[in-house]
Amino acid sequence: MAIIRKTKSVEALLTLFNKAENAMSVVELVKQLEKEMNKTTVYRILDRLEESGHLHSFIGKDGLTWYAKCKDCDEAHHHDAHPHFQCLNCGKVECLSVDVSIPKIPKREVVVSHVLIQGKCESCVK
Ligand SMILES: [Zn+2]
Ligand SMILES: [Zn+2]
Repeated sequence: MAIIRKTKSVEALLTLFNKAENAMSVVELVKQLEKEMNKTTVYRILDRLEESGHLHSFIGKDGLTWYAKCKDCDEAHHHDAHPHFQCLNCGKVECLSVDVSIPKIPKREVVVSHVLIQGKCESCVK
């Protein structure tokens, strides 16, 4: 994991992610941090944390961008090929630690692949 300059704003964002068990949407992040920083700053830091391998992003239902903590990524290698699960009942979004096999596509090189599975989460399925 690359070292990034830990400003107060960066620290605030990382704290949120360390506390959160699940992924967080940009809307939620901006709302939770509105007293500490403006929207532009939130976006800028998210970009930086994604570049440095701290976070990864993906698109959820309704085209919203979600962010979650990375496990062993760094600047040069993001390996977040895991699928994400969005609960249609409570809205929770999680990283799934299962592998998806990405097909080999002739004459193309796959760089990013997003798999979003939607349904009912563990607590909602009961
Ligand atoms: Zn749920
Ligand atoms: Zn994830």
